[in-house]
Formats: sequence, C-alpha cells, structure tokens
Amino acid sequence: MRATQLHLVTYRNDPADAEVLSHRLMARAGYIHKLSAGLYVYGPLLWRTLKKVQDIVREELDGIGGLEVQLPILQDQALWEKSGRWDLYQASRTMLSTQDRKGTTYGLAPTAEEVVTDYAGATIKSYKQLPVSLYQIHTKFRDEIRPRFGLMRVKEFLMKDGYSFDADEAGLDARYEAFRGAYVRIFQRCGLEAFGVDADPGDIGGSGSMEFMVAADAGEDAILIEESSGYAANVEKAESRIAPSPSEGDAARPMRREHTPDIRTVEQLEGFFPEISADRMVKTVLCKAVHIDSEQPWAVLIRGDQEVNEVKLRNHTGGLGIKMLTDTEIESLTGAKPGFAGPVGLPEAFEIVADHSVRGMVNLLCGANTTDEHCLDVNLGRDCPMPTFADVRTARAGEPGPRNGDPLIERRGIEVGHIFKLGTKYSAAMGATFTDPNGKPQPLVMGCYGIGVSRVAAAAVEQQSDDLGIRWPVPIAPFEVVVACLSVKDEELVAAAEGLYAQFREAGIDVLYDDRKMGAGAKMKDLELMGFPFLVYVGRSWKQDGQAEVRDRPAGEKTLIAKDEVFETIARSVRSQRRGLLPE
Ligand code: ATP
Ligand code: MG
Repeated sequence: MRATQLHLVTYRNDPADAEVLSHRLMARAGYIHKLSAGLYVYGPLLWRTLKKVQDIVREELDGIGGLEVQLPILQDQALWEKSGRWDLYQASRTMLSTQDRKGTTYGLAPTAEEVVTDYAGATIKSYKQLPVSLYQIHTKFRDEIRPRFGLMRVKEFLMKDGYSFDADEAGLDARYEAFRGAYVRIFQRCGLEAFGVDADPGDIGGSGSMEFMVAADAGEDAILIEESSGYAANVEKAESRIAPSPSEGDAARPMRREHTPDIRTVEQLEGFFPEISADRMVKTVLCKAVHIDSEQPWAVLIRGDQEVNEVKLRNHTGGLGIKMLTDTEIESLTGAKPGFAGPVGLPEAFEIVADHSVRGMVNLLCGANTTDEHCLDVNLGRDCPMPTFADVRTARAGEPGPRNGDPLIERRGIEVGHIFKLGTKYSAAMGATFTDPNGKPQPLVMGCYGIGVSRVAAAAVEQQSDDLGIRWPVPIAPFEVVVACLSVKDEELVAAAEGLYAQFREAGIDVLYDDRKMGAGAKMKDLELMGFPFLVYVGRSWKQDGQAEVRDRPAGEKTLIAKDEVFETIARSVRSQRRGLLPE
C-alpha cells in the first residue's frame, strides 16, 4: 500500500476533551474521528488494526470449536420480557429503545443473551447436538452515563460476544476453561500483558465470572493482588482479612447515651471521645436499593474504620443499584439529622445488614437515631436485634490477603474481556430446553464470553506507547514495516525505496510505502506518531554511506543498517515478533 492512497491525516494538537494517552494519540494520529460524545468513526488505519485483532480472535475461537454467527442488533421488547431484563435495562437506561412503523418496540443490543438463547432453544433439540459454542463480532450499543477516554468507554463499540450451550455443569466447566485458555492466548497474541481476575458478574448475572485486565495507569478498574497465592480480584469483588476490633472479648457494660452536639463523622467522634478509636465504633450507612418499581431503605452497619462496597451491597440487596439517602429522607425516616443513625431503635422501614467487621464487637459506639446523641457500650443482640451479617466491605491495599494473609497490592487495569458461567438463568426463563438421554426436557446450561475488540486497541496504545507516539505491538499494527523515501524528487532514492518496498511485499510482510511529498523531518514525526513498529528511511545516508536509517520501535532504537542487509534484518525482527500460537 502506498501512503498517498491511504488518506493519512494527522493533527498537531490534542483534542480538548482527551484525558488519557490513548485518546490523545489515536485522535492526533488520525485513527479516530469523534462524531459526538461516545461515537467515533474508525479511520482506515484503525480498521486495519481492528481487523487483525478480529483475525486473532477468530483463529483462537475457531480452534476451540466456536462457530461464528451474526445476530441482529435490533432486538424486540417481547424477547427481553421473557428473560425479565427489559425493565432492568430500561431502568438503568443502558439500552436505547425505539419503535418501528407498526409500533413494535425494540432495544439496541447492549449484549445478546436473549437473542442467542432464543436461537439455541429453537435449534437444539437433543443432548446429541451438544455442546455448541457460538460467537459473533458485532456492534454493541450502551447508553453509558459518562462516555470518555476515546475508544475506552463509548456508546457504540465492537464486541466479540460468545455463548456456550452444554447439557450439564461439567460441560459448562469444560467450555469455560476452553474459553479462558483461548482468551489467554488471544491477548498474548495481540501483544498485550493481560491477566485474569475474579469479578462481579454485574447485570449479565450467573455464578462464576472472570475479567481480563490490561495493566495500565489509566485503567478504570482497581485490582487487588496477593502475590504469594496468585489471588487477584476486582476491588468490586475482592476480599481481605482485617484484625478484629480491639473490643472483642471485653466484658459487656450497660448501654448509655451521651449528648454529642453536631458530632457526626467518625473523625469528629474520635476527637470527642479520644479513648474510643474508630475500630470500636459502628458506622450506620443509610441508603436505598433501587428495584424496577420500588425502592427499599437499607441500614448498613460497618466498623468505623472501614468503607461500604456498593457492588457487594447491591448484590446483597438484589437491587439494580444503590442510592444514598438524601438529608431530607434521612430526617423523615429516622427522625434525626444525618450523622446520628444507629442500630438501636432504628425504624422498621429499614432492612438491616451488618458487615462481618462488626461481628464480635463489644461495647460499641454508634448513633442514637436522635439528633446530637450517640449510644455508648452498645451490644448487638442485647440492645437491638442481632443483624444479618454479610461481606459488604471494600478491601484495601495493604490489608492481609484472603488466602495467605500477605499484604494486598493494588494495580489499575482496563477490562478487555469478561467470561461468565450463566448456568440456566436465561434458558430456564426463556424455555430453551433440550431432551436428555431419558427423554426429559432440561434447560440448556450456558456460558457467555465477551471481548471489547475496539477497547483492546485503545488498551494496547495505553500500555505500549512511548515519547514519540503510539507503539503498536507487531501482531496488531496497521502495517508491520514502513519504507519511507525522504526525498521523493530524487530518482535514485525513489528507485531504492521502491525496490525495498517490493522486497518486503514479496516476502509477505505487511508493508507501507511512504511516497508522500513532504519534508523529511515532518514525515518521520508523522510515522513515529502513527506507531508503526519498523520504519526504514531511505534518505541522505543511503546515498552518502550506503545505509538506511532504521527506527525499531519495539526495541526503542534508532540504527543505521547497510543497504543490502536492511531487508533481511527487519524481516527477521518482524517474523520473530509476529507471535504465532504459543505453547500453553
Ligand atoms: P465496564 O465494567 O467497563 O462498563 P462491562 O463489565 O459492563 O464493562 P461486559 O458486559 O463485561 O462489560 O462487556 C464485555 C466487554 O465489552 C468488556 O469486557 C469491555 O472490554 C467491553 N466494553 C463494555 N462496555 C464498553 C464500552 N462502553 N466501550 C467500549 N468497550 C466496552
Ligand atoms: Mg464486564
């Protein structure tokens, strides 16, 4: 391909809304063009990269028996009513909906469990047809609250979504394992450093779930890692051990009340009662779980030095989301101003859950549900009913890990893939059954498997760029090599560059010939920004010393190579970095 035919466009300045590196670089190098918030045009260079990512995904999924299909993006409401998710996705406003001329309502696919379950239910009749794994690479639409970070969080994006159907849990386990292995190879082959972490299944649901994360500072997810055991989990899900409250084992004292004027926070209480540390206090967090057509107030008891984890809490309440109560709501529900809530005498309107950190605490300090009052020496089960306990706490870096008790380390990550064991959640709800060997109908046992194909490209830029610009890993670079003629008016140089270009092409190397008429410096800067792995400059030193100037981005080197060695040297480097199938 010749650069003059490739519609290359670069910009000098970063877009005003670009907060992260990948957004800045991809916009400046002309890979993306913003239409409006969260909607981008993928330019020709980016599309080459995305096609390479897709090819790797296809090879690996075909290799584990995956069958590629294409499912509609417009999905009718009736289908989503069957799984019970229509209202949920409408309530969270994730799914955009529209009507056709007949008045039928459709949603724009944020994911495709309903459609694929309908297809599987209709076409799989007998256990003899199982297992079946289907996948597609297609556009997904999600009305994100805050689209941002370029391709990282957009409204419309390219996803690979796969779905497996088995006769039983053992089959699902085997399929899940096969997809997990394929995911490890896919990200390796894309040249990304990715790792799997325990994850919360979110709105997709199901039992087991693992996210694949690309380590990068700009990542929106926090991951906690216990190195000695290999434990790694999204902070939404992570567990840790903490030392018990120092009050544990003390003899119970009678409860009393104390006037605490305008003392509301744990910090203020520590100042007011210097002998009582935060780990002897219980915070009462008042919130509500939002359901499809109702809201339930909750009181969450947690040790004073700990924080509530909203995702764990949402899962415990079974709600779509959690909202904090407003000051007015707190006052009308508890009769006290904010900052004085506690488990003693809490109105019945509240459901109560206590974090495990509260278990075993004795003589604790908490709010009295009266403005400007706190209770001291409270004992749960004596001064108020014994609450239900659950893990609703956010684990933090530095705390002892759940397996070996070694300190947890925090890393930031970009979620590029997510796999789930769905079980029979969708098949049972939608009546997708097969006949087992005894002639009985059984619901299909399902798994589902996503990769954010367009996010993978952004994650690669985020993880690998350098001072010059993007630095694509060879397997997903739009071109592996660029031969650039630095003086297109010089016939000798043009002939030499064309010769090299032909040599690379004949050798099956994905090569771009930069024949643009522009200054040598500007041309080099441009190509470096666009991030091609190997740049071969045919210019002054070719004529003077018989050498090509070579920029090897993966190695971060700029070298001079004799003109009759340049092809061999670069071809060898390219081939060594193409990453075929790696041994498991
Ligand atoms: P996130 O937590 O980042 O919102 P998710 O957990 O909702 O993502 P999944 O339902 O697991 O996403 O979707 C599968 C994959 O699709 C994700 O792992 C991610 O790589 C990609 N993806 C999800 N939402 C977006 C988005 N708004 N823009 C780009 N890629 C996305
Ligand atoms: Mg996810």
